[in-house]
Amino acid sequence: MKTHSEAAEIFNKDFDRTTWHDETLYFVRQKRDKAAFQINDWELLRETASKIKNNVLSNMHNYLVQFEENALRNGIKVHWAADALEHNEIVYGIISEYYKGDIPADTFKGMVKSKSMLTEECHMNEFLKEKGIEVIDTDLGERIVQLAEEPPSHIVMPCIHWKKEEIGELFHKHLGTEKGNKDPQYLTEAARQHLRDKFLTRPIALTGVNFVVAETGEFVVCTNEGNADMGAHLADVHIASMGFEKIIPQKKHLGVFLRLLARSATGQPITTYSSHFKKPRDGQQMHIVIVDNGRSTQLGREDFRNSLKCIRCAACFNTCPVYRRSGGHSYHNAVAGPIGSILAPNLDMRANADLPFASTLCGSCSNVCPVKIDIHQQLYKWRQVLVQEGYTPASKTLAMKGMSTVLSNPGVFKFSGKVGRMLMDKLPFLVNNSMNPWYKQREMPEPPEESFRDWYKKNREK
Ligand code: SF4
Repeated sequence: MKTHSEAAEIFNKDFDRTTWHDETLYFVRQKRDKAAFQINDWELLRETASKIKNNVLSNMHNYLVQFEENALRNGIKVHWAADALEHNEIVYGIISEYYKGDIPADTFKGMVKSKSMLTEECHMNEFLKEKGIEVIDTDLGERIVQLAEEPPSHIVMPCIHWKKEEIGELFHKHLGTEKGNKDPQYLTEAARQHLRDKFLTRPIALTGVNFVVAETGEFVVCTNEGNADMGAHLADVHIASMGFEKIIPQKKHLGVFLRLLARSATGQPITTYSSHFKKPRDGQQMHIVIVDNGRSTQLGREDFRNSLKCIRCAACFNTCPVYRRSGGHSYHNAVAGPIGSILAPNLDMRANADLPFASTLCGSCSNVCPVKIDIHQQLYKWRQVLVQEGYTPASKTLAMKGMSTVLSNPGVFKFSGKVGRMLMDKLPFLVNNSMNPWYKQREMPEPPEESFRDWYKKNREK
């Protein structure tokens, strides 16, 4: 697996793509700013959301049990999954159970799915494919990356790295659209007709979950395309997959989160569809799978537990200068960007030790986060933990040890400065060469004739 910086280097080779990726996401960030500034009490709203989530984190066990009791009362079947594999096996169990029933021979064996980053995290599509079950992603962006056999690169805009010309080619190949036609309306209509057929013929639908209300036993799914509703309303079986942190205590709290979510994500006042599911319709099965997959561990890590407040709006992605110029795939994790770089090491420190370093620590992510997660502080903290635990590359550890010796010893610091200035002046190729990653993209500075210390000594009398 490539590290973040190796994968980012490949993404950066396409200068035009990197530039418009950067500009497009910054445009979305600006839309978020305009939407936020139109609400007088935006900061109060963020503060309230943060406090509600603090309460949830401290009482998670109670709220989850309360939700289960109410959901069961409503006729929803509740399942608990300790990890990704258990989640996938539960979903497969529900599907197998259904297909053992009296199903017409011409029924397609498969299911439609609306966007669920949790199922990406659990690699559910791949798991079910091996069992002979076809999963059709129905969110337009998700369907595009699925046809291209890629993972999503962004949690809200999964194919933001694709150009419309490329989507035209992809649809021509898979959906039979006119060659060379890149008109977004034409392509969207083609996708709509293609997906309509899937909705009508697949008897099982899986949706993600945005919020789960403990007080009422209901869940809310937000989409802009109505695909979750199409799937769930037409299917005999509705499965909803949720990470356990999606719980909120009361229905009135939805007003806080729904106002924050869409504004932070795309600058919309509200998502086009905020659909509430409380009980199955007559003859339908409704299941909810509550997934841990490392979340309990994260809840127990005092420095990182706040990351479980995340409502997956992606505002931290859109504002992050590193994400915008490195692309989502460079994060090699289902959730990319700044929050993904906090969540990923919790799942596997060794495999994801590079991600907390993919940040300038500028703090822009923390400034836009609607639930006030201290994102950049947690990234900084992860760096310390990863170094202490020995998960960073030996070259970096050695370099940092050397730097620590230099910076903590005034005599060594003074001597190193003198040697460094001399080398940069007399033997510049020792610094300005392709072995120096800093030099690859930048002009190195002219070495000063004297250090500040020398200058100060000479001039302090004046
Ligand atoms: S960490 Fe905050 S800004 Fe980033 S996706 Fe989550 S809620 Fe949105």
